[in-house]
Amino acid sequence: MDYPNRFDVIVIGGGHAGTEAALAAARMGCQTLLLTHNIETLGQMSCNPAIGGIGKSHLVKEIDALGGAMGLATDHAGIQFRVLNARKGPAVRATRAQADRVRYKAAIRGMLENQPNLTLFQQGVDDLIVDGDTVRGAVTQTGIRFHADTVVLCTGTFLGGVIHIGLDSHTGGRAGDPPANALAQRLRALPFRVDRLKTGTPPRLDAKSLDFSQLEEQPGDTPTPVMSYLGSRDLHPRQVSCRIAHTNERTHEIIFANLDRSPMYSGTIEGVGPRYCPSIEDKVHRFADKASHQIFIEPEGLETHELYPNGISTSLPFDVQLQVVRSIKGLENAHITRPGYAIEYDFFDPRDLKHSLETRFIHNLFFAGQINGTTGYEEAGAQGLLAGLNAALRVRGEDAWCPRRDEAYLGVLVDDLITLGTQEPYRMFTSRAEYRLLLREDNADLRLTETGRRLGLVDDARWAAFSTKREAIEAEQARLAATWVQPRSAAAEQLNARLPKPLNREYSLLELLKRPELGYGDLVGLDGIEGTGVDDETVAEQVQIQAKYQGYIDRQQAEIDKLKRHEATPLPADLDYSRVEGLSNEIRDKLAAARPETLAQAGRISGVTPAAVSILLIHLKKRR
Ligand code: FAD
Repeated sequence: MDYPNRFDVIVIGGGHAGTEAALAAARMGCQTLLLTHNIETLGQMSCNPAIGGIGKSHLVKEIDALGGAMGLATDHAGIQFRVLNARKGPAVRATRAQADRVRYKAAIRGMLENQPNLTLFQQGVDDLIVDGDTVRGAVTQTGIRFHADTVVLCTGTFLGGVIHIGLDSHTGGRAGDPPANALAQRLRALPFRVDRLKTGTPPRLDAKSLDFSQLEEQPGDTPTPVMSYLGSRDLHPRQVSCRIAHTNERTHEIIFANLDRSPMYSGTIEGVGPRYCPSIEDKVHRFADKASHQIFIEPEGLETHELYPNGISTSLPFDVQLQVVRSIKGLENAHITRPGYAIEYDFFDPRDLKHSLETRFIHNLFFAGQINGTTGYEEAGAQGLLAGLNAALRVRGEDAWCPRRDEAYLGVLVDDLITLGTQEPYRMFTSRAEYRLLLREDNADLRLTETGRRLGLVDDARWAAFSTKREAIEAEQARLAATWVQPRSAAAEQLNARLPKPLNREYSLLELLKRPELGYGDLVGLDGIEGTGVDDETVAEQVQIQAKYQGYIDRQQAEIDKLKRHEATPLPADLDYSRVEGLSNEIRDKLAAARPETLAQAGRISGVTPAAVSILLIHLKKRR
């Protein structure tokens, strides 16, 4: 056949994992094929059209720092941007954007179509070509055979997908799309551990049928936050508000009265759902004492009237969904454009993967995204990027790149998955990262872009922008350290107005920036002080954060260094964790269940803090 059928990397599935995987491999110079059911659904958001949020924006910024697509696509498509936890410390601050789903898909497709070395082909994959214990390619549903050195599987919720609305169910990969049943059967014949998970989505509403006067308005932030390190406000389309509504006792009565018609409570669904994104029936059941739950009414785009009521994901029958929606103030006449539903699908135990996301049983086969038991676009995109780049490294004959837990949320995500597995859809939180003071969303570029450049993921334009920013930060830090304010000077008088006590000796501007009362802006334009400060707000932010948190950051770095020195210290197989004083019961349980062999392994278990590792070290010294 005169058609290109031999590639370096084949990526199967054009969702969030697959698109980042394909782009990464192609950016690294590999001839890459992206095989997907439908080119029209490349980059489709199956559920909520929103990117980012706590823990998740950290992943988006890391994808971006490594040259990925998600951050820039969000800047092209975002119609409402907010910074969550804005008043808390920088480690837990998170950017969240409501996206126009049509614009988001268009941005992703544009990047894919314009990426050199990348070929798109629309066709479902039914089979893998496996030779002994090595994958060699894929076979489409019409029997076209494509060969490659490596294959990355990113099939999302489609493997053995079953959609539930009330007690009715039918097969599907998500609403309107077919499941991937032949491929699911093929994978079940391979030696991977497989299980079922479920997730759900709310009904969508027609904005024309809502009474907006009854809903609280929630505008985005001003100035508008930006997602990508290469992004800017100029890329953003028109910005709009979300609205807030509330469930009430009547809503909860309707749900309670119909729980026997819910597939989750009648036992029809076996898969476990996402704990942190529960259905409304789950919330009402689990938190029976709560009289009301908040619902964010979010626009699906600028050119559509459809709205996404975030907080009432449900698989109740359609007639009950209608009653539930119409019991809510402002939604009394709501028209449902699409019913909510739950979907159950196959996922593979991520403990059968290596840190590179290559499978342990089949060489050169990588898994990324929801197939590994995660939930969320950001978690999928991050894994896709990692699997794509490691597939490309394999093609080049180079060692895999596996970020450490103190380097990236991506490292935390993969390490959690492959060390502990997951019993429920795994989503990222800042609390999962023990080194979260180092892993901030504001410094993902400083942590990762240099590595991205070395791997071949970061193009010249991104590298130039990054280098300019890094040099500006260093130059400004040097200027602040070398610029002094004398006591009783005009500048000191200006600063004294903000300080609890007047300055009584000379201070450098860098020392003054460490003071909680002073921000970077207070140190610019002081009388008699030379230098103008920097205009770039991201440079100013970085200088300020590094100055204010240096003490904490140094302490965390010292903990990492200490742990590294003791990495190989063995933990006795008979260690009774219940007798280790100072550990919380949760950490004792986790250690007892995982039985790590070394201190380093113990420190990698999600929730086992550096402080807990220090306690273990002291305990071991006492035992000797
Ligand atoms: P997907 O986005 O599912 O993409 C898979 C892609 O692979 C699709 O393009 C598909 O056509 C293609 N494909 C599959 N099989 C084949 C094949 N054999 N051959 C060719 N192409 C194939 N996430 C949250 O964070 N919160 C939520 O509340 C939430 N709710 C959800 C509700 C529903 C109903 C669904 C369906 C998903 C929900 N998600 C939610 C999950 C979110 O959509 C996923 O985490 C994310 O899309 C996973 O990305 P992915 O790339 O792994 O897979």
